[in-house]
Amino acid sequence: MEGPGKSRESGRPGQGEPYRAGCMVCGAELVYSGTDQDETCHYCGRVTATSTRCVNGHFVCNFCHSADALEIIKTVCLHGRQTDPVALMRTIRSHGQFPLHGPEHHCLVPAVILSTLRNSGHPVTDSQIVTAVKRGQTVTGGSCAFLGACGAAIGVGIAVSVLTGATPYDGDKRQAVQRITQAVLGKIASYDAPRCCQRDCWLALKEAVEPLREQTGISLAVSRFTCEQFDENKECIHDRCPLWPSNPSNT
Ligand SMILES: [Zn+2]
Ligand SMILES: [Zn+2]
Repeated sequence: MEGPGKSRESGRPGQGEPYRAGCMVCGAELVYSGTDQDETCHYCGRVTATSTRCVNGHFVCNFCHSADALEIIKTVCLHGRQTDPVALMRTIRSHGQFPLHGPEHHCLVPAVILSTLRNSGHPVTDSQIVTAVKRGQTVTGGSCAFLGACGAAIGVGIAVSVLTGATPYDGDKRQAVQRITQAVLGKIASYDAPRCCQRDCWLALKEAVEPLREQTGISLAVSRFTCEQFDENKECIHDRCPLWPSNPSNT
């Protein structure tokens, strides 16, 4: 952790703009105790002995404090205990180094799926999660328009591919993976809308629940939430988005 923050300097920063002082999570003042106590990292859930937390009780471990977006995805998905992929996505996206939009989301989707499946009892190895993140990195930014397939949809395909061990030689698995990606992509493509990585990841994770249940027998619970970033997203489609605050359906 860096030196103590004296006060919150301004209102909440935008996505990707960390607080410049104080608590990384909420911007509040940090407090220091005379002896170490075990605290759980807000992002990755690892328990560490520390003398530092914020007045609101947040603790961020040294690794998460200095991690970049990809490191945060890997660390949180390898060590976290969340079983709701949307809640896990929101934890990761709340990190100050995570951008509002960008190809990091192509890694986020498969990692979040594999981590929450593992936390729900499905066997998933660390190396499968790391592999999923690496494959997500191969999907370039803007792939939705430049390559004709949104990276969030491909991210679901990556997750299922890693889970099933699909290869280009295996007809059954190759077909299954592509059908799942196709179904998710169909949902994302039903919107005549500029990209919003939050909306597209949300749609991908929701759409992935049923095919993942068929693959694993586990029905992931996907939480609802309303968008809090529309002020920062100049391409926001407002009330046409399922995450728009006044949209009660949220589906
Ligand atoms: Zn805090
Ligand atoms: Zn951490």
